[in-house]
Amino acid sequence: MLPSLAKVGLEAVVEAGAGAQAGYTDADFAAKGAKIVPDRAEVFRLSEIVVQVLAHGANDRNGSGDLPLFHREQILIGFLRPMGSAQTVQDIAERGVTSFSMELMPRITRAQSMDALSAMATIAGYKAVILAADTLPRFFPMLTTAAGTITPGRVLILGVGVAGLQAIATARRLGAVVSAYDVRPAVKEQVQSLGARFVELAIEAKDAQDARGYATAQDESFYRRQRELLGKVIAENDVVITTAVVPGKKAPILVTKEMVAGMAPGSVIVDLAAERGGNCEYTRSGEMVVEHGVTIIGSINLASTVPYHASQMYAKNLATFLLLLVKDGKVQLNMKDEIIRDTLVTQGGEVANPRLREFFAMPALAAKEEAPK
Ligand code: NAD
Repeated sequence: MLPSLAKVGLEAVVEAGAGAQAGYTDADFAAKGAKIVPDRAEVFRLSEIVVQVLAHGANDRNGSGDLPLFHREQILIGFLRPMGSAQTVQDIAERGVTSFSMELMPRITRAQSMDALSAMATIAGYKAVILAADTLPRFFPMLTTAAGTITPGRVLILGVGVAGLQAIATARRLGAVVSAYDVRPAVKEQVQSLGARFVELAIEAKDAQDARGYATAQDESFYRRQRELLGKVIAENDVVITTAVVPGKKAPILVTKEMVAGMAPGSVIVDLAAERGGNCEYTRSGEMVVEHGVTIIGSINLASTVPYHASQMYAKNLATFLLLLVKDGKVQLNMKDEIIRDTLVTQGGEVANPRLREFFAMPALAAKEEAPK
């Protein structure tokens, strides 16, 4: 992506060793014109724009270590987990940084090549199936062998967004019999077009989908009824991959302890909602646990386990976004552009995103300015 950035007048500074674990050497970056700088603080000092994968807010391990390195008016682009904590967003605002969150990218056609959530969800859906196949003590495909016929594995996908669709496609390629369910009836056709069966439950979600295509939160009585109906379907499957989330909310529980007990020993659950509280009652974020003989995998950030292609896809997302922000080598924030407006998190020392301010019950900015001193 570096040559396309150079064309608009951007020079790249790369922290030494940044790509090493993903299979990209410093020499690769240097060959494309990047300057390699050994000291992380120096990278921040030299840069007008900082692009990161997990920035403060999304990086619980050492993201806060970057806060002192930012300088005022600097631009930060990355995963910020903006709805995770008002504090981390405030921390970034207080540094005077103009930050953009890749999580807030609008789901519009023009933004598709900048949609990093979709890129990472594609990887997570693929890898969830690979993990399940590796853990399951059975084959996925049907096999006709001299030692008899092997019946195919049965895989159920709960939540059919980007990750769920990729999980269906991958499990089908491995030869499993796949079924899938989602609260949004609109996905039925997509499920069927991938050769999976759509599970119909005798309940209907109210306004299942919002204007942006995301699932809407339902009341507890809906989730209770959903669990009652799902129990039997879950018990019929060897593998359950769950991806069900609702923006800004804890993930709904779809697989209870009782349902796990009802599965055949050796079955596998991969819970892609683990980071958001999990879809299974037994899920422990970032861990693998075994209960009633069923393995429940709560891995987080699965995209990082396919780092070569995750980097390639994320680089494309970031580069396209940068080309939108930069004209003639200068950052020009066109606030009339919904992509720039929606992804902007902090500016001028404030949390500047109205949707986030509302989410965190912060007073609207204009009203605050008008308030008497
Ligand atoms: P997501 O990660 O927000 O959620 C995953 C899935 O879980 C969704 O399909 C959701 O409906 C489902 N879900 C939530 N609660 C559930 C419950 N109780 N039971 C069962 N399923 C439940 O989803 P996503 O991958 O971000 O995709 C959301 C939508 O946006 C999809 O329709 C996707 O195709 C669409 N999308 C559009 C674009 C674009 O047009 N550029 C880009 C990406 C995604």
